[in-house]
Amino acid sequence: MVQDKENSEVPAEGAQAKSKKQLKKEAKDSAKASRKEEKKSKVAEAQPPVDDYSSGKYGNLPMIQSKEHVQRHYTHVKDLDPESAGKTVWIRGRLHTSRAIGKQCFVLLRQQQYTVQAILAVNDAISKPMVKFASNISKESIVDVEADVSTVASKIEKCTQKDVELQVKQIWVVSSAKPQLPLQIEDASRPVTEEEVEGPNIAVNQDTRLDNRVLDLRTPANQAIFRLEAGVCRLFRDILTDKGFVEIHTPKIISAASEGGANVFTVSYFKGSAYLAQSPQLYKQMAIAADFDRVFTVGAVFRAEDSNTHRHLTEFVGLDLEMAFKHHYHEVLDVIGQTFTDMFRGLQEKYADEIAAVAKQYPVEPFVFLDPPLRLEFSEARALLKEAGVELGEEDDLSTPDEKLLGRLVKAKYDTDFYILDKYPLAVRPFYTMPDPNRPKTSNSYDMFMRGEEILSGAQRIHDPEFLTERAKVHGVDIDKISAYIESFRYGCPPHAGGGIGLERVVMLYLGLDNIRKTSMFPRDPKRVTP
Ligand code: ATP
Repeated sequence: MVQDKENSEVPAEGAQAKSKKQLKKEAKDSAKASRKEEKKSKVAEAQPPVDDYSSGKYGNLPMIQSKEHVQRHYTHVKDLDPESAGKTVWIRGRLHTSRAIGKQCFVLLRQQQYTVQAILAVNDAISKPMVKFASNISKESIVDVEADVSTVASKIEKCTQKDVELQVKQIWVVSSAKPQLPLQIEDASRPVTEEEVEGPNIAVNQDTRLDNRVLDLRTPANQAIFRLEAGVCRLFRDILTDKGFVEIHTPKIISAASEGGANVFTVSYFKGSAYLAQSPQLYKQMAIAADFDRVFTVGAVFRAEDSNTHRHLTEFVGLDLEMAFKHHYHEVLDVIGQTFTDMFRGLQEKYADEIAAVAKQYPVEPFVFLDPPLRLEFSEARALLKEAGVELGEEDDLSTPDEKLLGRLVKAKYDTDFYILDKYPLAVRPFYTMPDPNRPKTSNSYDMFMRGEEILSGAQRIHDPEFLTERAKVHGVDIDKISAYIESFRYGCPPHAGGGIGLERVVMLYLGLDNIRKTSMFPRDPKRVTP
Protein backbone atom coordinates (compact mmCIF):
# COMPACT_ATOMS: atom_id res chain seq x y z
CA MET A 1 0.00 0.00 0.00
CA VAL A 2 1.43 3.34 -0.97
CA GLN A 3 0.92 6.10 1.54
CA ASP A 4 3.25 8.66 0.05
CA LYS A 5 2.14 11.40 -2.23
CA GLU A 6 2.26 9.80 -5.69
CA ASN A 7 2.85 12.71 -7.85
CA SER A 8 5.38 15.39 -7.20
CA GLU A 9 4.34 17.45 -10.22
CA VAL A 10 0.65 17.48 -9.37
CA PRO A 11 -0.46 17.76 -5.73
CA ALA A 12 -2.12 14.55 -4.53
CA GLU A 13 -5.88 14.64 -4.54
CA GLY A 14 -7.44 15.22 -1.14
CA ALA A 15 -4.14 16.39 0.27
CA GLN A 16 -5.49 19.33 2.33
CA ALA A 17 -5.46 18.87 6.09
CA LYS A 18 -8.82 18.49 7.78
CA SER A 19 -9.77 20.13 11.06
CA LYS A 20 -9.67 18.03 14.25
CA LYS A 21 -13.42 18.39 14.65
CA GLN A 22 -13.99 17.21 11.09
CA LEU A 23 -11.72 14.19 11.59
CA LYS A 24 -13.46 13.25 14.86
CA LYS A 25 -16.85 13.48 13.22
CA GLU A 26 -15.68 11.38 10.27
CA ALA A 27 -14.29 8.69 12.60
CA LYS A 28 -17.55 8.61 14.55
CA ASP A 29 -19.63 8.39 11.38
CA SER A 30 -17.47 5.63 9.99
CA ALA A 31 -17.67 3.57 13.22
CA LYS A 32 -21.44 3.98 13.21
CA ALA A 33 -21.65 2.96 9.55
CA SER A 34 -19.51 -0.11 10.13
CA ARG A 35 -21.66 -1.21 13.14
CA LYS A 36 -24.73 -0.82 10.96
CA GLU A 37 -23.17 -2.73 8.03
CA GLU A 38 -22.00 -5.53 10.35
CA LYS A 39 -25.48 -5.88 11.77
CA LYS A 40 -26.85 -5.91 8.24
CA SER A 41 -24.48 -8.66 7.15
CA LYS A 42 -25.36 -10.82 10.14
CA VAL A 43 -29.01 -10.57 9.25
CA ALA A 44 -28.22 -11.20 5.60
CA GLU A 45 -26.24 -14.30 6.47
CA ALA A 46 -29.19 -15.76 8.30
CA GLN A 47 -31.27 -18.12 6.19
CA PRO A 48 -35.03 -17.53 5.89
CA PRO A 49 -37.22 -18.93 8.67
CA VAL A 50 -38.94 -22.18 7.58
CA ASP A 51 -42.48 -20.97 8.26
CA ASP A 52 -41.99 -17.96 6.02
CA TYR A 53 -44.41 -18.04 3.07
CA SER A 54 -41.67 -16.55 0.85
CA SER A 55 -39.24 -19.28 1.76
CA GLY A 56 -37.52 -20.61 -1.36
CA LYS A 57 -37.64 -17.21 -3.04
CA TYR A 58 -34.68 -15.58 -1.33
CA GLY A 59 -31.50 -16.31 0.57
CA ASN A 60 -27.83 -16.97 0.00
CA LEU A 61 -27.06 -19.34 -2.85
CA PRO A 62 -24.56 -22.08 -2.10
CA MET A 63 -21.19 -21.37 -3.70
CA ILE A 64 -21.51 -22.00 -7.42
CA GLN A 65 -19.11 -24.85 -8.08
CA SER A 66 -20.43 -25.84 -11.50
CA LYS A 67 -22.39 -28.71 -9.96
CA GLU A 68 -25.20 -28.51 -12.50
CA HIS A 69 -26.27 -26.79 -15.69
CA VAL A 70 -29.16 -24.34 -15.24
CA GLN A 71 -31.14 -23.37 -18.32
CA ARG A 72 -32.02 -19.79 -17.49
CA HIS A 73 -31.88 -16.73 -19.68
CA TYR A 74 -30.42 -13.62 -18.07
CA THR A 75 -31.28 -10.15 -19.33
CA HIS A 76 -28.65 -7.40 -19.22
CA VAL A 77 -29.68 -4.25 -17.36
CA LYS A 78 -28.76 -2.15 -20.41
CA ASP A 79 -31.41 -3.99 -22.45
CA LEU A 80 -34.28 -3.13 -20.11
CA ASP A 81 -36.54 -0.63 -21.87
CA PRO A 82 -40.27 0.07 -22.15
CA GLU A 83 -40.54 -2.80 -24.63
CA SER A 84 -39.55 -5.17 -21.82
CA ALA A 85 -42.64 -4.15 -19.82
CA GLY A 86 -44.87 -7.11 -18.95
CA LYS A 87 -41.98 -9.58 -19.19
CA THR A 88 -40.46 -11.54 -16.34
CA VAL A 89 -36.66 -11.44 -16.38
CA TRP A 90 -33.69 -12.82 -14.49
CA ILE A 91 -30.87 -10.38 -13.85
CA ARG A 92 -27.46 -10.99 -12.32
CA GLY A 93 -26.07 -7.72 -11.07
CA ARG A 94 -24.51 -5.93 -8.18
CA LEU A 95 -26.57 -4.45 -5.42
CA HIS A 96 -25.57 -0.83 -5.92
CA THR A 97 -27.68 0.57 -3.06
CA SER A 98 -30.69 -0.50 -1.02
CA ARG A 99 -33.13 1.60 0.96
CA ALA A 100 -35.88 0.27 3.19
CA ILE A 101 -38.95 2.45 3.61
CA GLY A 102 -41.70 0.98 5.77
CA LYS A 103 -42.78 -2.30 4.22
CA GLN A 104 -40.87 -1.69 1.02
CA CYS A 105 -37.28 -1.97 -0.08
CA PHE A 106 -35.86 -0.07 -3.05
CA VAL A 107 -32.80 -1.71 -4.54
CA LEU A 108 -30.62 -0.30 -7.30
CA LEU A 109 -29.16 -3.08 -9.40
CA ARG A 110 -26.05 -2.35 -11.44
CA GLN A 111 -24.36 -4.13 -14.31
CA GLN A 112 -21.19 -2.30 -15.34
CA GLN A 113 -22.34 1.29 -15.88
CA TYR A 114 -26.06 0.47 -16.21
CA THR A 115 -28.51 0.72 -13.31
CA VAL A 116 -32.17 -0.09 -12.75
CA GLN A 117 -34.48 0.29 -9.78
CA ALA A 118 -36.04 -2.83 -8.24
CA ILE A 119 -38.76 -2.89 -5.59
CA LEU A 120 -39.82 -5.42 -2.99
CA ALA A 121 -43.04 -4.61 -1.17
CA VAL A 122 -44.68 -6.80 1.47
CA ASN A 123 -47.71 -8.55 -0.08
CA ASP A 124 -49.25 -12.02 -0.47
CA ALA A 125 -46.14 -13.36 -2.19
CA ILE A 126 -43.40 -11.27 -0.57
CA SER A 127 -43.03 -11.69 3.17
CA LYS A 128 -41.72 -9.19 5.67
CA PRO A 129 -38.58 -11.30 6.32
CA MET A 130 -37.90 -11.36 2.56
CA VAL A 131 -38.03 -7.56 2.37
CA LYS A 132 -35.80 -7.34 5.42
CA PHE A 133 -33.34 -9.80 3.90
CA ALA A 134 -33.11 -7.70 0.73
CA SER A 135 -32.61 -4.48 2.65
CA ASN A 136 -29.73 -6.05 4.57
CA ILE A 137 -27.72 -7.33 1.62
CA SER A 138 -24.38 -5.52 1.66
CA LYS A 139 -23.62 -3.08 -1.11
CA GLU A 140 -21.64 -4.47 -4.08
CA SER A 141 -22.84 -8.04 -3.43
CA ILE A 142 -23.73 -9.96 -6.58
CA VAL A 143 -27.37 -10.99 -6.67
CA ASP A 144 -29.68 -12.99 -8.91
CA VAL A 145 -33.08 -11.34 -9.19
CA GLU A 146 -36.24 -12.59 -10.84
CA ALA A 147 -38.61 -9.72 -11.50
CA ASP A 148 -41.53 -8.41 -13.52
CA VAL A 149 -40.68 -5.38 -15.63
CA SER A 150 -43.07 -2.42 -15.63
CA THR A 151 -42.98 1.10 -16.99
CA VAL A 152 -43.00 4.05 -14.62
CA ALA A 153 -45.17 7.15 -14.53
CA SER A 154 -42.29 9.54 -13.95
CA LYS A 155 -38.70 8.96 -15.02
CA ILE A 156 -36.27 7.52 -12.47
CA GLU A 157 -33.51 10.07 -12.88
CA LYS A 158 -30.90 8.36 -10.72
CA CYS A 159 -30.84 5.25 -12.94
CA THR A 160 -29.55 4.75 -16.46
CA GLN A 161 -32.77 2.80 -17.18
CA LYS A 162 -35.17 5.62 -16.39
CA ASP A 163 -38.38 4.36 -17.95
CA VAL A 164 -38.79 0.98 -16.27
CA GLU A 165 -38.57 -0.62 -12.86
CA LEU A 166 -38.56 -4.19 -11.56
CA GLN A 167 -41.04 -5.84 -9.20
CA VAL A 168 -38.89 -8.45 -7.49
CA LYS A 169 -40.19 -12.04 -7.23
CA GLN A 170 -36.98 -13.73 -6.08
CA ILE A 171 -33.65 -12.43 -4.80
CA TRP A 172 -30.58 -14.59 -4.15
CA VAL A 173 -27.11 -13.58 -3.07
CA VAL A 174 -24.54 -15.18 -5.38
CA SER A 175 -21.45 -13.59 -3.86
CA SER A 176 -21.58 -11.24 -0.93
CA ALA A 177 -19.33 -8.21 -0.50
CA LYS A 178 -17.61 -7.38 2.76
CA PRO A 179 -19.98 -5.00 4.53
CA GLN A 180 -17.51 -2.18 4.99
CA LEU A 181 -16.26 -0.85 1.69
CA PRO A 182 -12.97 1.10 1.60
CA LEU A 183 -14.58 3.43 -0.91
CA GLN A 184 -18.13 4.04 -2.02
CA ILE A 185 -18.74 3.59 -5.75
CA GLU A 186 -21.06 6.60 -5.66
CA ASP A 187 -18.31 8.79 -4.17
CA ALA A 188 -15.74 7.49 -6.63
CA SER A 189 -18.16 8.25 -9.50
CA ARG A 190 -19.03 11.78 -8.44
CA PRO A 191 -18.46 14.45 -11.11
CA VAL A 192 -15.54 16.76 -10.47
CA THR A 193 -15.33 20.34 -11.65
CA GLU A 194 -12.25 21.62 -13.44
CA GLU A 195 -10.85 23.18 -10.25
CA GLU A 196 -11.45 20.00 -8.28
CA VAL A 197 -9.65 17.58 -10.60
CA GLU A 198 -6.47 17.90 -8.56
CA GLY A 199 -7.86 19.75 -5.58
CA PRO A 200 -8.70 18.94 -1.97
CA ASN A 201 -12.46 18.49 -2.43
CA ILE A 202 -12.17 15.32 -4.40
CA ALA A 203 -14.42 12.60 -2.97
CA VAL A 204 -11.92 9.73 -3.12
CA ASN A 205 -8.21 10.42 -3.41
CA GLN A 206 -5.95 8.74 -5.92
CA ASP A 207 -4.11 6.46 -3.51
CA THR A 208 -7.36 5.16 -2.01
CA ARG A 209 -8.61 4.47 -5.53
CA LEU A 210 -5.45 2.68 -6.60
CA ASP A 211 -5.12 0.72 -3.35
CA ASN A 212 -8.66 -0.53 -3.93
CA ARG A 213 -8.55 -0.63 -7.70
CA VAL A 214 -11.02 -3.53 -8.07
CA LEU A 215 -13.74 -1.36 -6.54
CA ASP A 216 -12.56 1.84 -8.19
CA LEU A 217 -12.68 0.20 -11.62
CA ARG A 218 -16.42 -0.37 -11.19
CA THR A 219 -17.28 3.31 -11.70
CA PRO A 220 -18.94 4.23 -15.00
CA ALA A 221 -16.00 6.46 -16.00
CA ASN A 222 -13.46 3.71 -15.36
CA GLN A 223 -15.57 1.15 -17.18
CA ALA A 224 -15.55 3.55 -20.13
CA ILE A 225 -11.83 4.45 -19.96
CA PHE A 226 -10.66 0.85 -20.20
CA ARG A 227 -13.17 -0.06 -22.88
CA LEU A 228 -11.91 2.91 -24.91
CA GLU A 229 -8.33 1.84 -24.22
CA ALA A 230 -9.17 -1.57 -25.67
CA GLY A 231 -10.60 0.35 -28.62
CA VAL A 232 -7.31 2.19 -29.19
CA CYS A 233 -5.46 -1.15 -29.35
CA ARG A 234 -8.06 -2.69 -31.60
CA LEU A 235 -8.09 0.27 -33.98
CA PHE A 236 -4.27 0.37 -34.02
CA ARG A 237 -4.20 -3.32 -34.93
CA ASP A 238 -7.02 -3.14 -37.49
CA ILE A 239 -5.82 0.02 -39.23
CA LEU A 240 -2.23 -1.21 -39.55
CA THR A 241 -3.26 -4.74 -40.55
CA ASP A 242 -5.37 -3.19 -43.34
CA LYS A 243 -2.28 -1.27 -44.45
CA GLY A 244 -0.32 -4.50 -44.81
CA PHE A 245 1.51 -4.49 -41.45
CA VAL A 246 2.35 -7.75 -39.66
CA GLU A 247 1.95 -7.98 -35.88
CA ILE A 248 5.11 -9.29 -34.22
CA HIS A 249 6.08 -10.13 -30.64
CA THR A 250 9.46 -9.06 -29.38
CA PRO A 251 11.40 -10.31 -26.33
CA LYS A 252 11.05 -8.42 -23.08
CA ILE A 253 14.10 -10.08 -21.52
CA ILE A 254 17.16 -8.83 -23.32
CA SER A 255 20.91 -8.98 -22.92
CA ALA A 256 21.71 -5.31 -23.49
CA ALA A 257 19.81 -2.15 -22.63
CA SER A 258 17.77 -1.12 -25.69
CA GLU A 259 17.92 2.62 -25.09
CA GLY A 260 21.31 2.89 -23.41
CA GLY A 261 22.32 2.12 -19.84
CA ALA A 262 20.21 4.62 -17.94
CA ASN A 263 16.63 3.86 -16.92
CA VAL A 264 16.96 0.12 -17.35
CA PHE A 265 15.73 -2.56 -14.96
CA THR A 266 18.25 -5.32 -14.38
CA VAL A 267 16.86 -8.76 -13.55
CA SER A 268 18.71 -11.80 -12.33
CA TYR A 269 18.89 -14.42 -15.07
CA PHE A 270 20.05 -17.80 -13.85
CA LYS A 271 23.73 -17.33 -12.99
CA GLY A 272 23.95 -13.93 -14.62
CA SER A 273 21.72 -10.93 -15.22
CA ALA A 274 19.58 -9.56 -18.02
CA TYR A 275 17.53 -6.42 -18.69
CA LEU A 276 13.87 -5.62 -19.21
CA ALA A 277 13.27 -4.11 -22.66
CA GLN A 278 12.90 -0.31 -22.66
CA SER A 279 11.57 -0.46 -26.20
CA PRO A 280 11.01 -3.09 -28.91
CA GLN A 281 12.76 -0.86 -31.41
CA LEU A 282 15.84 -2.91 -32.17
CA TYR A 283 13.73 -6.01 -32.74
CA LYS A 284 11.28 -4.18 -35.01
CA GLN A 285 14.26 -3.09 -37.06
CA MET A 286 15.61 -6.61 -37.20
CA ALA A 287 12.19 -7.75 -38.48
CA ILE A 288 12.54 -5.16 -41.25
CA ALA A 289 16.02 -6.48 -42.03
CA ALA A 290 14.38 -9.93 -42.17
CA ASP A 291 12.01 -8.72 -44.93
CA PHE A 292 8.75 -8.30 -43.00
CA ASP A 293 8.46 -4.88 -44.67
CA ARG A 294 5.86 -3.38 -42.28
CA VAL A 295 5.58 -4.50 -38.65
CA PHE A 296 3.90 -3.42 -35.44
CA THR A 297 3.80 -4.70 -31.91
CA VAL A 298 1.74 -4.04 -28.78
CA GLY A 299 3.46 -4.90 -25.53
CA ALA A 300 4.94 -3.98 -22.17
CA VAL A 301 7.81 -1.51 -22.06
CA PHE A 302 9.86 -0.91 -18.91
CA ARG A 303 11.58 2.29 -17.84
CA ALA A 304 13.43 2.52 -14.55
CA GLU A 305 13.01 6.28 -14.38
CA ASP A 306 12.33 7.84 -11.04
CA SER A 307 9.85 10.26 -12.58
CA ASN A 308 6.92 10.99 -10.34
CA THR A 309 5.01 12.98 -12.90
CA HIS A 310 1.48 12.83 -14.21
CA ARG A 311 2.67 11.17 -17.46
CA HIS A 312 5.40 8.67 -16.57
CA LEU A 313 5.02 5.05 -15.53
CA THR A 314 7.77 2.50 -14.97
CA GLU A 315 5.82 -0.04 -17.02
CA PHE A 316 3.58 1.01 -19.88
CA VAL A 317 2.10 -0.45 -23.03
CA GLY A 318 4.00 0.43 -26.17
CA LEU A 319 2.28 0.61 -29.53
CA ASP A 320 5.25 0.41 -31.86
CA LEU A 321 5.55 0.29 -35.61
CA GLU A 322 8.33 0.13 -38.18
CA MET A 323 8.11 0.35 -41.97
CA ALA A 324 10.43 0.02 -44.93
CA PHE A 325 10.20 2.85 -47.46
CA LYS A 326 11.48 3.47 -50.97
CA HIS A 327 13.04 6.96 -51.07
CA HIS A 328 11.94 9.33 -48.29
CA TYR A 329 10.91 8.74 -44.68
CA HIS A 330 7.88 10.97 -45.24
CA GLU A 331 6.34 7.90 -46.90
CA VAL A 332 6.28 6.48 -43.36
CA LEU A 333 5.28 9.73 -41.69
CA ASP A 334 2.21 9.89 -43.94
CA VAL A 335 1.20 6.36 -42.91
CA ILE A 336 1.64 7.07 -39.18
CA GLY A 337 -0.24 10.38 -39.40
CA GLN A 338 -3.09 8.72 -41.27
CA THR A 339 -3.16 5.90 -38.70
CA PHE A 340 -3.80 8.47 -35.98
CA THR A 341 -6.55 10.32 -37.83
CA ASP A 342 -8.24 7.01 -38.67
CA MET A 343 -7.94 6.03 -35.01
CA PHE A 344 -9.39 9.31 -33.72
CA ARG A 345 -12.28 8.99 -36.14
CA GLY A 346 -12.82 5.37 -35.13
CA LEU A 347 -12.97 6.38 -31.47
CA GLN A 348 -15.48 9.13 -32.20
CA GLU A 349 -17.67 6.76 -34.16
CA LYS A 350 -17.44 3.58 -32.12
CA TYR A 351 -16.80 4.85 -28.60
CA ALA A 352 -19.13 7.86 -28.34
CA ASP A 353 -20.89 6.33 -25.30
CA GLU A 354 -17.60 5.77 -23.49
CA ILE A 355 -16.40 9.31 -24.27
CA ALA A 356 -19.70 10.67 -22.93
CA ALA A 357 -19.45 8.52 -19.76
CA VAL A 358 -15.98 9.88 -18.98
CA ALA A 359 -17.11 13.45 -19.71
CA LYS A 360 -19.90 13.03 -17.14
CA GLN A 361 -17.33 12.69 -14.37
CA TYR A 362 -14.37 14.70 -15.68
CA PRO A 363 -14.60 18.06 -17.44
CA VAL A 364 -13.29 17.47 -20.94
CA GLU A 365 -13.01 19.55 -24.08
CA PRO A 366 -13.73 17.24 -27.04
CA PHE A 367 -10.57 16.22 -28.90
CA VAL A 368 -10.19 17.99 -32.26
CA PHE A 369 -7.90 17.04 -35.15
CA LEU A 370 -7.24 17.80 -38.80
CA ASP A 371 -7.26 15.38 -41.70
CA PRO A 372 -4.59 15.16 -43.03
CA PRO A 373 -2.86 15.96 -39.76
CA LEU A 374 -0.95 19.18 -39.27
CA ARG A 375 2.79 18.78 -39.85
CA LEU A 376 5.21 21.45 -38.67
CA GLU A 377 8.98 21.58 -38.85
CA PHE A 378 10.97 22.09 -35.68
CA SER A 379 12.18 25.45 -37.02
CA GLU A 380 8.54 26.59 -37.34
CA ALA A 381 7.89 25.57 -33.75
CA ARG A 382 10.96 27.51 -32.71
CA ALA A 383 9.58 30.58 -34.51
CA LEU A 384 6.14 30.22 -32.91
CA LEU A 385 7.73 29.97 -29.47
CA LYS A 386 9.95 32.95 -30.20
CA GLU A 387 6.86 35.04 -30.99
CA ALA A 388 5.52 33.99 -27.59
CA GLY A 389 8.76 35.07 -25.91
CA VAL A 390 10.56 31.71 -25.60
CA GLU A 391 13.92 31.57 -27.33
CA LEU A 392 15.43 28.16 -28.24
CA GLY A 393 19.00 27.58 -29.44
CA GLU A 394 19.69 25.72 -32.70
CA GLU A 395 20.50 22.47 -30.88
CA ASP A 396 18.04 22.76 -28.00
CA ASP A 397 15.26 20.28 -27.36
CA LEU A 398 11.81 21.31 -26.20
CA SER A 399 11.30 21.24 -22.46
CA THR A 400 7.99 19.97 -21.08
CA PRO A 401 6.69 23.54 -20.48
CA ASP A 402 7.81 24.49 -24.04
CA GLU A 403 5.84 21.53 -25.40
CA LYS A 404 2.74 22.57 -23.50
CA LEU A 405 3.02 26.19 -24.60
CA LEU A 406 3.57 25.07 -28.18
CA GLY A 407 0.46 22.90 -27.92
CA ARG A 408 -1.59 25.93 -26.90
CA LEU A 409 -0.09 28.09 -29.67
CA VAL A 410 -0.76 25.41 -32.29
CA LYS A 411 -4.34 24.93 -31.02
CA ALA A 412 -5.00 28.68 -31.20
CA LYS A 413 -3.53 28.98 -34.71
CA TYR A 414 -4.64 25.72 -36.34
CA ASP A 415 -7.47 24.42 -34.11
CA THR A 416 -6.05 20.95 -33.67
CA ASP A 417 -5.16 18.87 -30.60
CA PHE A 418 -2.93 16.59 -32.68
CA TYR A 419 0.10 17.55 -34.71
CA ILE A 420 3.40 16.19 -36.00
CA LEU A 421 6.67 17.97 -35.34
CA ASP A 422 9.29 16.97 -37.90
CA LYS A 423 13.05 17.58 -38.25
CA TYR A 424 14.36 17.63 -34.69
CA PRO A 425 17.90 18.86 -34.04
CA LEU A 426 20.31 15.95 -34.58
CA ALA A 427 22.02 16.61 -31.25
CA VAL A 428 18.93 15.72 -29.19
CA ARG A 429 18.20 12.36 -30.85
CA PRO A 430 19.73 8.89 -30.31
CA PHE A 431 22.78 7.67 -32.28
CA TYR A 432 20.73 5.49 -34.67
CA THR A 433 18.77 8.51 -36.04
CA MET A 434 19.45 9.35 -39.68
CA PRO A 435 20.93 12.87 -40.05
CA ASP A 436 19.26 15.20 -42.55
CA PRO A 437 21.63 15.23 -45.58
CA ASN A 438 20.56 18.76 -46.50
CA ARG A 439 20.93 20.34 -43.05
CA PRO A 440 23.76 18.87 -40.98
CA LYS A 441 22.44 19.94 -37.56
CA THR A 442 19.00 18.50 -38.30
CA SER A 443 17.74 14.92 -38.34
CA ASN A 444 15.07 12.87 -40.09
CA SER A 445 13.16 12.51 -36.86
CA TYR A 446 9.80 13.51 -35.48
CA ASP A 447 7.57 13.56 -32.41
CA MET A 448 3.78 13.64 -32.34
CA PHE A 449 1.69 15.50 -29.80
CA MET A 450 -1.79 15.34 -28.34
CA ARG A 451 -3.04 18.32 -26.33
CA GLY A 452 0.55 19.60 -26.14
CA GLU A 453 2.13 16.42 -24.75
CA GLU A 454 4.36 13.95 -26.56
CA ILE A 455 2.75 10.65 -27.46
CA LEU A 456 5.10 9.37 -30.19
CA SER A 457 8.76 9.58 -30.90
CA GLY A 458 10.20 8.27 -34.14
CA ALA A 459 12.72 8.62 -36.92
CA GLN A 460 14.36 7.25 -39.98
CA ARG A 461 16.92 4.80 -38.57
CA ILE A 462 20.37 4.34 -39.98
CA HIS A 463 20.36 1.09 -41.98
CA ASP A 464 23.98 1.23 -43.13
CA PRO A 465 26.26 -0.65 -40.67
CA GLU A 466 29.36 1.48 -41.34
CA PHE A 467 27.53 4.77 -40.90
CA LEU A 468 25.76 3.37 -37.81
CA THR A 469 29.15 2.49 -36.29
CA GLU A 470 30.43 5.98 -37.06
CA ARG A 471 27.41 7.65 -35.43
CA ALA A 472 27.58 5.37 -32.38
CA LYS A 473 31.20 6.42 -31.88
CA VAL A 474 30.26 10.11 -32.11
CA HIS A 475 27.73 9.46 -29.32
CA GLY A 476 30.32 7.60 -27.24
CA VAL A 477 28.36 4.33 -27.45
CA ASP A 478 30.41 1.19 -26.71
CA ILE A 479 30.49 -0.58 -30.10
CA ASP A 480 31.03 -4.02 -28.52
CA LYS A 481 27.76 -3.74 -26.65
CA ILE A 482 25.74 -3.07 -29.79
CA SER A 483 27.61 -5.37 -32.17
CA ALA A 484 24.62 -7.75 -32.61
CA TYR A 485 22.44 -4.76 -33.52
CA ILE A 486 24.97 -3.47 -36.06
CA GLU A 487 25.50 -6.99 -37.43
CA SER A 488 21.83 -7.30 -38.31
CA PHE A 489 22.32 -4.65 -41.01
CA ARG A 490 25.30 -6.38 -42.65
CA TYR A 491 23.20 -8.60 -44.93
CA GLY A 492 21.33 -5.78 -46.63
CA CYS A 493 18.46 -3.86 -45.04
CA PRO A 494 15.87 -1.59 -46.67
CA PRO A 495 15.70 2.05 -45.59
CA HIS A 496 13.11 2.26 -42.84
CA ALA A 497 11.49 4.48 -40.23
CA GLY A 498 9.05 4.00 -37.39
CA GLY A 499 7.95 5.15 -34.00
CA GLY A 500 6.91 4.24 -30.49
CA ILE A 501 3.66 5.33 -28.89
CA GLY A 502 2.58 5.12 -25.25
CA LEU A 503 -0.92 3.64 -25.04
CA GLU A 504 -1.81 5.11 -21.63
CA ARG A 505 -0.70 8.56 -22.74
CA VAL A 506 -2.83 8.42 -25.88
CA VAL A 507 -5.92 7.49 -23.85
CA MET A 508 -5.19 10.07 -21.13
CA LEU A 509 -4.75 12.86 -23.65
CA TYR A 510 -7.54 11.84 -25.98
CA LEU A 511 -9.95 11.99 -23.04
CA GLY A 512 -8.28 15.08 -21.56
CA LEU A 513 -7.55 13.37 -18.22
CA ASP A 514 -4.98 14.80 -15.84
CA ASN A 515 -2.99 11.73 -14.78
CA ILE A 516 -1.67 8.63 -16.56
CA ARG A 517 -2.59 6.54 -13.49
CA LYS A 518 -6.21 6.99 -14.56
CA THR A 519 -5.53 5.16 -17.82
CA SER A 520 -3.36 2.32 -16.54
CA MET A 521 -5.48 -0.41 -15.01
CA PHE A 522 -2.84 -1.37 -12.43
CA PRO A 523 -0.23 1.39 -12.67
CA ARG A 524 3.43 0.88 -11.87
CA ASP A 525 5.46 3.88 -10.81
CA PRO A 526 8.51 4.39 -8.57
CA LYS A 527 6.30 4.20 -5.48
CA ARG A 528 3.74 1.62 -6.50
CA VAL A 529 4.05 -2.02 -7.51
CA THR A 530 0.74 -3.22 -6.02
CA PRO A 531 -2.00 -4.27 -6.48
P1 ATP B 1 9.29 11.65 -22.37
O1 ATP B 1 10.23 12.65 -22.95
O2 ATP B 1 7.88 12.11 -22.34
O3 ATP B 1 9.75 11.05 -21.11
P2 ATP B 1 10.57 9.77 -24.09
O4 ATP B 1 11.17 10.72 -25.06
O5 ATP B 1 11.41 9.12 -23.06
O6 ATP B 1 9.27 10.45 -23.40
P3 ATP B 1 10.32 7.67 -25.95
O7 ATP B 1 11.43 6.89 -25.39
O8 ATP B 1 10.54 8.33 -27.23
O9 ATP B 1 9.78 8.70 -24.89
O10 ATP B 1 9.02 6.72 -25.98
C1 ATP B 1 8.01 6.83 -26.98
C2 ATP B 1 6.65 7.08 -26.33
O11 ATP B 1 6.44 6.19 -25.26
C3 ATP B 1 6.48 8.45 -25.71
O12 ATP B 1 6.10 9.39 -26.67
C4 ATP B 1 5.36 8.20 -24.74
O13 ATP B 1 4.09 8.17 -25.37
C5 ATP B 1 5.67 6.82 -24.25
N1 ATP B 1 6.44 6.85 -23.00
C6 ATP B 1 7.76 7.03 -22.85
N2 ATP B 1 8.14 6.96 -21.58
C7 ATP B 1 7.02 6.72 -20.87
C8 ATP B 1 6.75 6.51 -19.49
N3 ATP B 1 7.73 6.53 -18.59
N4 ATP B 1 5.48 6.28 -19.12
C9 ATP B 1 4.48 6.23 -20.04
N5 ATP B 1 4.67 6.41 -21.35
C10 ATP B 1 5.92 6.66 -21.78
